[in-house]
Amino acid sequence: MTQHSNALPPLAALTTPTLTWNEGAPHATAFDDIYFTRGDGRAETEHVFLGANQLPERFAAWEAPRPFVIGETGFGTGLNMLCAWACFEQHAPPSARLHLLSTEKFPLELGALEQALASWPSLALYAQALCAQWPAAVSGIHRLHLTERVTLDLHFGDTTERLEQLDGQVDAWFLDGFAPSKNPDMWQPELFNAMAARSRPGATFATFTCAGIVKRGLKAAGFNWKKVPGYGRKREMLVGSIETPPADQRRQSTPWFTPPPLASVKHVVVVGAGLAGSSMAAALARRGIKVTVVEREAPGAGGSGNRQGALYVKLAAETNYQSRVYLAGLLYSQRWLSQQLFTQPLSTAPLWQPCGVVQLASSDKEARRQQRFNQQHPLPGEVVTAMENPALSKTAAMAIDAPHGLYYPQAGWVRPKALCEHLLQQPGITFLQGDVSSLTQLDDGWHLNLADGSTVEADQVVIASAHLANCFAQTAALPLQSVRGQISELRLPDEVAGPKRVVCAGGYVAPALEGVLTFGASFVPNNATTEITADDHQRNVDELRQTLPALVEELEQAGIKLTPEYLKGRAAVRAASPDKTPYAGPVPVAEAWRADYSLLSKDATRVADTPGEHYPGLWISTAHGSRGLASAPLCAEVIASRMCDEPMPLEAPLVDHLHPGRRIISAIIRGGNA
Ligand code: SAM
Repeated sequence: MTQHSNALPPLAALTTPTLTWNEGAPHATAFDDIYFTRGDGRAETEHVFLGANQLPERFAAWEAPRPFVIGETGFGTGLNMLCAWACFEQHAPPSARLHLLSTEKFPLELGALEQALASWPSLALYAQALCAQWPAAVSGIHRLHLTERVTLDLHFGDTTERLEQLDGQVDAWFLDGFAPSKNPDMWQPELFNAMAARSRPGATFATFTCAGIVKRGLKAAGFNWKKVPGYGRKREMLVGSIETPPADQRRQSTPWFTPPPLASVKHVVVVGAGLAGSSMAAALARRGIKVTVVEREAPGAGGSGNRQGALYVKLAAETNYQSRVYLAGLLYSQRWLSQQLFTQPLSTAPLWQPCGVVQLASSDKEARRQQRFNQQHPLPGEVVTAMENPALSKTAAMAIDAPHGLYYPQAGWVRPKALCEHLLQQPGITFLQGDVSSLTQLDDGWHLNLADGSTVEADQVVIASAHLANCFAQTAALPLQSVRGQISELRLPDEVAGPKRVVCAGGYVAPALEGVLTFGASFVPNNATTEITADDHQRNVDELRQTLPALVEELEQAGIKLTPEYLKGRAAVRAASPDKTPYAGPVPVAEAWRADYSLLSKDATRVADTPGEHYPGLWISTAHGSRGLASAPLCAEVIASRMCDEPMPLEAPLVDHLHPGRRIISAIIRGGNA
């Protein structure tokens, strides 16, 4: 039997199931059980899961600003979830939103998923949306935006473990999974306890089985149940609800991370129009919230303003929380960027190219690190794969000296500035040029005081102004470091093609965009200057020479002088936190935290029983460093989900890891400053 604990389960590639097919219906060999009944599977789903949870009626009456949340154990082919989505489209009012979350320990391969869903031609459009975004079989939460108002979180991994990590609450459960007799490991008391702990008061459930272990487990966890007629030849099934779910015990040892109370969310002001601010605005606008973005210059004027940037991450050999956040961010950004392409005008150059990223091991130390990473976390090849030369050179279409590397086939390059501009054009977003000098808290919102003397009023505010984000009295306690970064740009002669993939070692080199090669960026901590310097160009050239000596040779043979005076470039300031993890979440009231948790300085186990005090309706997304393409869009979802009372797109410990107050606590424990 699986042992459960509150620790985040290790990052792992999951096993895909072996299937046999019976006239289009898959059968799982390992469990000797079916995914759905051949022929009338859809009608069965509608009876057992939709009807018994009274979804048509509940959808029709759904008027809450938050989405209706369905939780499922065992996603399988997705038939149940697609049927729920179709039912929602049929019954829910236009303003309603739906949030689906489902666990799966043995995700189907894409081809099998497509084949299974081909049994339901009436669901073809729904199936297409799902298959187009089907994630790699990696443990963790994969958020898919199926439509503007329907979101699916796939929680890949063991059901009970995943529900224990879930930061969110469910309105209706589909208690699926193979039959208890075929899959006894799953139907354990811990499963029902985890469901109870993640239920809204009054949450319902429905399940096809009436097994004694299920009835006893549900009852012990606090659910009531009754038997109702099953579908077709199945005489009975179970339905029920939980009126008073148990309190969430998870934050007893970290009360400071308790989410702030909900506040009105009709109009949100985002300060800053870089990637953090623009993706934040887009995430809120998708939820139907009116957003004003206030920016003192222009979209992408700071660190997000380059013509071209690389989407990639560097994962720690022994994955830690930071690495987990970045991997989740990379996978989310890849899906999210592909979706942006659907809404961008066809006449413009694509906002992103998933051309693949080659990460060279440019030293023995780095090669050993990559090797350790591969041994400990053998991830599916579609995420990252170890590569040796000559395959490295062949993949990059360029001679590469380094013998080892990693290849991320679905990563690539982005046009960050164009992306910010595109995001800000989404309906519901207003751009306002202005310099926010201070924030005044009102009884039920905020006044943003602009340098020109004007004010803007908001229910809630998200500060996303990179290294300037801690310039406000409310955020001054959050430590931020400025890091200068300069990229270099070189027009390639016709005879030099450049690399086909993004190649990175110390910095990155991207495939030429409109004939211009971008490489860099320099990394100068504690420096907030933005003029172009010859020194930084030289550093970028030296790095390029190390990373791709063959390219440099080709350029020199073509008569190109790689000296600073022949290069163009752009310098900007990026923000970093002391621990290099972004800040994404509610803004803590630092003085209150220092007072409330002062005993920690004497003894780190003396945790006061007080929830963390936050400025109501004040949030921050910053410290994305030079990896904002991988972190900012997911952090925007983290903040928007919390603000709108939705399930979170990351496991609870990772949400806490991003919390902007974490340094205040570690400083109290250390007895110093954050
Ligand atoms: N709801 C599915 C549908 O609509 O197609 C059918 C679910 S199928 C009967 C059961 C699913 O539960 C399988 O996909 C199986 O891999 C998954 N499963 C079984 N044990 C699990 C566990 N311990 N954790 C997560 N998923 C599990």
